Amino acid sequence: MKANRRTFLQSSAGASLAVPGAAGVSGAEKPRLDKAALDRILAEPVLRRDLLPAPVKIDRLELLRNRNQFLVRVRSTDGAESITVPNNSRLLDVYPLYLKRVAPFFIGKDARDLETLLWEVYRYQSNYKFQGLAFWVCVATVEMALLDLMGQITGKPIGDLLGGVRRRDIGVYRASGNRGNKPEEEIAYLKKLVAETGARAVKFRLGARMSRNADSPPGRSEALIPLAREAFGNDMTLYADANSSYDVPNAIRLGRLMEKYNYAMFEEPCEFDDLWAHKQVSDALTMPVGLGEQEFSMRRFQWVIENRAADIIQPDLHYFGGYIRCTQVARMANAAGMPCTLHLSESGFAYLNVLHFASYVADPGPFQEFKGETSIPFTCDTSPLTCKNGIVRCPAGPGFGIQIDPDYIRKFQAVKEV
Ligand SMILES: [Mg+2]
Repeated sequence: MKANRRTFLQSSAGASLAVPGAAGVSGAEKPRLDKAALDRILAEPVLRRDLLPAPVKIDRLELLRNRNQFLVRVRSTDGAESITVPNNSRLLDVYPLYLKRVAPFFIGKDARDLETLLWEVYRYQSNYKFQGLAFWVCVATVEMALLDLMGQITGKPIGDLLGGVRRRDIGVYRASGNRGNKPEEEIAYLKKLVAETGARAVKFRLGARMSRNADSPPGRSEALIPLAREAFGNDMTLYADANSSYDVPNAIRLGRLMEKYNYAMFEEPCEFDDLWAHKQVSDALTMPVGLGEQEFSMRRFQWVIENRAADIIQPDLHYFGGYIRCTQVARMANAAGMPCTLHLSESGFAYLNVLHFASYVADPGPFQEFKGETSIPFTCDTSPLTCKNGIVRCPAGPGFGIQIDPDYIRKFQAVKEV
């Protein structure tokens, strides 16, 4: 079974080479990396510190708010400034952690030390006791602000600061968040998403989310799997996401059905923290299994990669603490022959964040998630940031490469206290 699985992954990676934005994975054998080998990759620097000869001392780091929207404004003591869009939907719940435990640590520090600071802020006031999405979203908020600031100073895009831009035309997929509708209704919705973007890959949901095998409604998943292939034909890449719905036998049962219809990813088939279940499912199936959006532990990602508990590694840029940590995961995954395709959390500009990640990572997989365009007013000289024929072009300007409308920013005020 393993040999079949390997062959499938090689051919799928080979096919992805034809897709703009895909790096693909080549080689006759997927290398097996043990913990020591993964630790060596983890120890390699990510940030191109050599691009920044002078210190970038952080003077102010402000969280700005206008009703349910947040922005982050960072200034260096030399007067450089950046304004970025954080993960609004999560910060609404966790911003007190940002204000009390994360932002104050960075004041007075040199942004060029970011990699060391990510470790120090984890130790600061025993912040590691708060580890998980709540803490790492706050760290990602600062990290992305500092990367953009260093982009403004150097004139380099995010990808050049983190290893070098390899591609700017990024292939995207559209995902449906629906459950509870009829299979035919879901197909009609997916067709609408494809028609809007020209995407050549789509993802829909199976099961009922953390549902211990219940479907939404019963029989929907088994009906949708063949129906989507029939509706979109053989040229469409199909993904399905169970959001932790199944135990091992049911995951394998659904996976076999997806294999029959040539699906390219079965995302989070079992409860997300049951790494052992995912390994059983991955070992049993020939199709790729995706995992990682809830993961916040670097060591558990190492375990998943070392033990091949999944085939596609999916950290969330915001939930996992930002670019540097996700790049470290991607480097380890890619060295083991596994694509690292980010999970995309709901947020104002998350798709821009994902484009930059896919611009420099060796193998981000053939398609990145695109949730549609933002409502935040901005200008960008180097990309329309719209999706055409399933492709979105990554900006090339400094940092994130966009300018948020000053009139929009003026409506925001600094959040002073919790
Ligand atoms: Mg998912």
